[in-house]
Amino acid sequence: MEETELVIVGAGPTGMFATFCAGLRDIKSITLEALDTYGGQITQLYPQKMVYDVQAIPRINATQLSKQMFEQAEMFKGRIEFSSEVTDIIPSEEGKFDVEVNGEKRYRCRAVLLCAGVGNFEPNKVGAKGEDTYSGKGVYYNIKNPEEFRNRKVLVVGGGDSAFDYAMQLFDFASSITIVQHNETLKAVEEDVETVRKNQKCSVLLNKNVEKIIGDGAAVKQAMIKDTVTGEEKVLDVDSVIIAIGYKVHPEAMKSIKLETSGRYIKVDEDYRTNVEGIYAAGDIANVKDEPKYALLAVGGAEAYIAVNSIKKYISPKSSLFGGHSSSLNL
Ligand SMILES: Cc1cc2nc3c(=O)[nH]c(=O)nc-3n(C[C@H](O)[C@H](O)[C@H](O)COP(=O)(O)OP(=O)(O)OC[C@H]3O[C@@H](n4cnc5c(N)ncnc54)[C@H](O)[C@@H]3O)c2cc1C
Repeated sequence: MEETELVIVGAGPTGMFATFCAGLRDIKSITLEALDTYGGQITQLYPQKMVYDVQAIPRINATQLSKQMFEQAEMFKGRIEFSSEVTDIIPSEEGKFDVEVNGEKRYRCRAVLLCAGVGNFEPNKVGAKGEDTYSGKGVYYNIKNPEEFRNRKVLVVGGGDSAFDYAMQLFDFASSITIVQHNETLKAVEEDVETVRKNQKCSVLLNKNVEKIIGDGAAVKQAMIKDTVTGEEKVLDVDSVIIAIGYKVHPEAMKSIKLETSGRYIKVDEDYRTNVEGIYAAGDIANVKDEPKYALLAVGGAEAYIAVNSIKKYISPKSSLFGGHSSSLNL
């Protein structure tokens, strides 16, 4: 089995920055990514959007941002392996861990940094009749290219940020956009809710469940919704249904270690240590507090930085916690 100091799980934004930071601190690392590409949510959920809130980059296309993150991750030649899903982390001798990849034990390491974000992008389903039949033929779980929704009557299911974000992405494309939420609580940012409500193409319906997605076998034609308060059923003419009710996250997936969780998050301390010595977590999968966190690129990056420096101290106790300013280097 190959030995290394650190295994980083996930080559999303957090895992990529962690790979860079590990190189910066001279930690021998391997980054394992389940998908065949890097970028995590950026590549899978919003490749065409613009991003404005990454320090020193006023405006950047998400795919370009992800490319730049990868370029930075590779600066110290940290190895990144794709199509490598970490399926278990098994404590072994002398406080080391055997990391199982695609069901086979492959790497032995001193520390593991989990940057697995929202997991393997398995979407939550709404459970409507016809949902599976029309999956990919009118039923979608994200928007890869808004152009595909041009002149379509779109039903968006969900009341969170993603649902409203998808609605706004379709302003210039869809002919109509109906958002349905199963209760009367909209969790999306107030400004986005207001923007959507003001748009003449949009309507927001509360207390509605999607019961049935109806089509002709090849494409979606209608959706039946039911009022959760009155029980009234209504059939809407739609030709696309976007289900935006989150992803299944399995923080407990690493079965040989018992990680403490809080909801969908792995609990960490301020040094991004989990309850298992030698296992750290950062980014969208980790949370210091028991309340929703700022799930953002810059936050994940800062967490990766802190986690990697804590790991340096853990695997080489004599080293300093802070590795110095990168501006002192001449790369
Ligand atoms: C529509 C949308 C728009 C957004 N816009 C912004 C924005 O403008 N600004 C901003 O700051 N943030 C934005 N975000 C949030 C931002 O994308 C996330 O905070 C960020 O992607 C988190 O990075 P991460 O690496 O922690 O997790 P992820 O991006 O989820 O990456 C995790 C990676 O780990 C991999 N993985 C999971 N499990 C395993 C396993 N067992 N083995 C190997 N690999 C595994 C996954 O395949 C994935 O590649 C947006 C999010 C969405 C959904």
